[in-house]
Amino acid sequence: MDSKRKRIVILGGGFAGLRFLYNVNRDLRDLIDITLIDERSTSLEKPSLPEVALSGKDVSLVQINFESIIKGENLHFLNQSAMDIDAENNRVTMRDGSTIDYDYLVIATGAVKDYDAVKGYRNHGYSVCDDVEAPKLWGALKKFKGGNVVIGSAKTEWDPETTDIRLAAPCEGPIGEIMFMIDYYLRQHGLREKSTINVFSPGEIFFEDVGENVQSRISPLIKSHEINVFTEKILVEITEKGVKFEDGTFMDSDLSIIIPPYSGTDIIKRSKLGDRYGFIRTNDEMRVPGFSNIFVVGDTNSNSMPKLGHIATMQADVAASSLAKELTGSGYVRELKPEIFCIMNRGGSEATLILSDTIFGGKTDMTLDGPVAHTMKIGFDSYYYYTRGHMPPEFLQSSLEKFLKSMR
Ligand SMILES: Cc1cc2nc3c(=O)[nH]c(=O)nc-3n(C[C@H](O)[C@H](O)[C@H](O)COP(=O)(O)OP(=O)(O)OC[C@H]3O[C@@H](n4cnc5c(N)ncnc54)[C@H](O)[C@@H]3O)c2cc1C
Repeated sequence: MDSKRKRIVILGGGFAGLRFLYNVNRDLRDLIDITLIDERSTSLEKPSLPEVALSGKDVSLVQINFESIIKGENLHFLNQSAMDIDAENNRVTMRDGSTIDYDYLVIATGAVKDYDAVKGYRNHGYSVCDDVEAPKLWGALKKFKGGNVVIGSAKTEWDPETTDIRLAAPCEGPIGEIMFMIDYYLRQHGLREKSTINVFSPGEIFFEDVGENVQSRISPLIKSHEINVFTEKILVEITEKGVKFEDGTFMDSDLSIIIPPYSGTDIIKRSKLGDRYGFIRTNDEMRVPGFSNIFVVGDTNSNSMPKLGHIATMQADVAASSLAKELTGSGYVRELKPEIFCIMNRGGSEATLILSDTIFGGKTDMTLDGPVAHTMKIGFDSYYYYTRGHMPPEFLQSSLEKFLKSMR
């Protein structure tokens, strides 16, 4: 390792960690040495997991091997679970007791989907949030002979001191995908007549992160698919026969699919850099106040809300530009202009693209429905997978957004 190069340690190789890595490796290669640490051996493309769970996509097609990413003299990969951060001494300790020192640390450990916080989940629940749970649901769906399907998010708690937008469900898009894709699957297999689909949300409204226009476009779609939605339902337990809520009500269920509550990762809770739930507040450059050589990007950032890959990569861009300005003495720090941009598969060749920034005080709030949106989803997922975690070129994204906004 060249001792003149700055040592960059990236904790976590998901959307945010990989985006940061690719940016700084492109722009600062001669100045830095990068070590990516991840406890997994593959980066998981989470937006494709509903397809694994509900249409049988091969799980290997959502896993990007880290070894295929780390190519070049200044890039290193440690397949380790990081246990603690000593921010005073610029050191990270691994589970096996080894340590690594850094000049700059990038925390991108994401959020834990806390299945064990939901009583009965392990025996009676299903989910789509990782590469163990998603294939398990596909196995259960193939055996399903019709009946009551209940789908929804558990409530997540946030610290009001650190988190400005506090959504009861930090990422409800996958719930939308699950309900439409199950509906499609059941119709394809002649089981829809024998089934009900009930969806619950802990929020006052379902999809509470979008504005009235998106709501007015999605509600009729939900109705036309004969899906029932119940709001302000706080999940307390999944049993063999159904789902129990805090208000004492019970929904009969033969197939209960949930997104569990989110929490910060253990390393953040241990390091004392974060709030009581394990999320870290940063300044506008994604740096931790008091430790300006530590950046926090993606779901771990307390103000990444909703918790989306799109916002995670935007934060990584801001952090990378801030580091570049510091190391080169030129350039500018990008401004974070968060927006919701996601494409919800609806089964077959149908999908709904949502572009909205009303939750951040903006005026954009629109959907694009149909096979074009579906083709875009396939295009994005394939691009991300086959380029080993690169996002499509920025000019494509900005042209697409300009085009979409011109349709308002
Ligand atoms: C089912 C599902 C569908 C989704 N669909 C969409 C979508 O369509 N569009 C969208 O924008 N967003 C979507 N999201 C949200 C998106 O996936 C997340 O917001 C995004 O993955 C966050 O990126 P991240 O880099 O912060 O964290 P992650 O992608 O979760 O990556 C965190 C990484 O850190 C590693 N790690 C954690 N702790 C440690 C440790 N102690 N030591 C070493 N490594 C560690 C993990 O192994 C992991 O690789 C979806 C999420 C889910 C669950």
